[in-house]
Amino acid sequence: MIKAKNIHKFYGNLEVLKGVDLSIKKGEIVAIVGPSGAGKTTLLQILGTLDNPAASKNSTLSINNQNLLELKDKSLSKFRNQHIGFIFQFHQLLPEFTALENVCIPAFIGNSSKNEAEKKAKELLFFLGLSDRIHHKPNELSGGEQQRVAVARALINNPDVIFADEPSGNLDSASAKKLHELFFTLRDKFNQTFVIVTHNEELANMADRKLEMKDGKIIN
Ligand code: ADP
Repeated sequence: MIKAKNIHKFYGNLEVLKGVDLSIKKGEIVAIVGPSGAGKTTLLQILGTLDNPAASKNSTLSINNQNLLELKDKSLSKFRNQHIGFIFQFHQLLPEFTALENVCIPAFIGNSSKNEAEKKAKELLFFLGLSDRIHHKPNELSGGEQQRVAVARALINNPDVIFADEPSGNLDSASAKKLHELFFTLRDKFNQTFVIVTHNEELANMADRKLEMKDGKIIN
């Protein structure tokens, strides 16, 4: 479902990705692990179309057979909105909007009607155990609740894949465990694919596959 070959990235003279190859199947939960500075976030951002790899004739990058390297700004944003969900370490919810409104935003960007978006957002928030929190703003929610709202926001457009960067890095261990279990429930029920950068060993060990990065390369 995701295929990347020979991905390079430079910041100035610093080569932070040195030819990464990977292939991820639908319904897989893949953890990317490795020391700080190994290039994990950079790789995730490139897979998620938030950043570009170095231009090279030998590089390929596709999600669901769509070649991402040929898409330009507008079509890339559209593809990202329709096919990719993101979860970050810090929830990145908009503080002035409620949980429900935050979850609806990607649907509105994708031109869903208010009714449609709210119906789907409520279904997701209910499914994630947040039915009594939908009209709360992020600062009225616990860290675990904020992250589950971020999961609902990532899911609202039925993405092919969710990319998560240290999703439990800011949570206490009980909330982290609950969030990790949620990822596996979503995979089991909806065949949701996840690619997760994490330092959390428990999560990495639960994953179907662990890709280890070091010095800009995948080493296993
Ligand atoms: P990891 O996620 O494994 O900690 P990163 O992908 O964040 O690693 O970073 C890989 C390397 O790239 C690090 O040396 C980091 O300092 C460098 N780097 C990351 N982003 C930038 C940037 N925007 N400009 C310059 N260097 C960067």
